[in-house]
Amino acid sequence: MKPITELLKSGAVLGDGGYLIELERRGYVDSGSGSETVGTGRGSGQFTPEVTIENPDALRELHREFLNAGSEVLQALTFFGTREKLSRAGYGADTERINLAAVKLAKEVAGDRALVAGSVSRTQLTEREGMASLGRSKDHIAEQIRILKDAAVDFLILETFFHLAEMEVALRCAAEAGLPAVATMSFRPLITRCSDDRTPAECAKVMTDLGAIAVGANCEQDPPRMLSLLREMRGATDLPLAAQPAAFRTSDTCHSFTRLPAFPDDLETIQVSRTEFRDFGRVAGAEGIRYLGGCCGCNAAYIRALAAGCRGAMT
Ligand SMILES: [Zn+2]
Repeated sequence: MKPITELLKSGAVLGDGGYLIELERRGYVDSGSGSETVGTGRGSGQFTPEVTIENPDALRELHREFLNAGSEVLQALTFFGTREKLSRAGYGADTERINLAAVKLAKEVAGDRALVAGSVSRTQLTEREGMASLGRSKDHIAEQIRILKDAAVDFLILETFFHLAEMEVALRCAAEAGLPAVATMSFRPLITRCSDDRTPAECAKVMTDLGAIAVGANCEQDPPRMLSLLREMRGATDLPLAAQPAAFRTSDTCHSFTRLPAFPDDLETIQVSRTEFRDFGRVAGAEGIRYLGGCCGCNAAYIRALAAGCRGAMT
């Protein structure tokens, strides 16, 4: 496989996405529902990746499904894999083991057919304790990136950051480690501003200035709503754009599915069809969005539909 920077130059790159919710539906990931009130900031928020050590076969199979659907990048399941987040869920002591196992599994399935990206997400410290915690965020994110580098990921996907300030910390850690990083912000409750009050265009500019190789958005929004925020980013950067939308429908008053009452136990009631991902692929491909994948709610069928739409747009 060519390096990610080369792939991004030669056309749209197809990613994957939606691991945690798909594995939760299959019975291998804990959503936290039932043991805590999600979103209060008091519980763990769960959705942590201990499946990498507890049920590796389930994860291996999902990686295979994405690869067969056409994914050119497999994300190691290291989302919510900082020591801070894992400690809240009772897995802090396994931080290294969980991250190393995730990369090993993804690489084993990818072979020479796909690149492997390490996923790095917010710590949740910023949401719980505010900006004063950014120093500790940095320590946790730097530790996870060091582990991912040791495990030899091809590049990083910095994803699902609600605060641009924490994304900045992550981009600096990636640069210090010498790893290329695709950087995608998440917006809630509306797509107009991130949690520290910056517009999508401002986010794109800052992420560009901090050395990202592609910038964009992931999670929270259904494809049509994500498209409008990516169009805003386009004016602020010359970098390739990246989009990994969720497969859940949002509303005009709430643009983020994790803030809707259907999260996490009634998500089936707001599921977006795979055809919408094919349509999204067609439009995004035609508009030159270079990194295309999915997020929560997606499985291999969605990635296959996305690939069909985007390839149709390019031919
Ligand atoms: Zn997601």
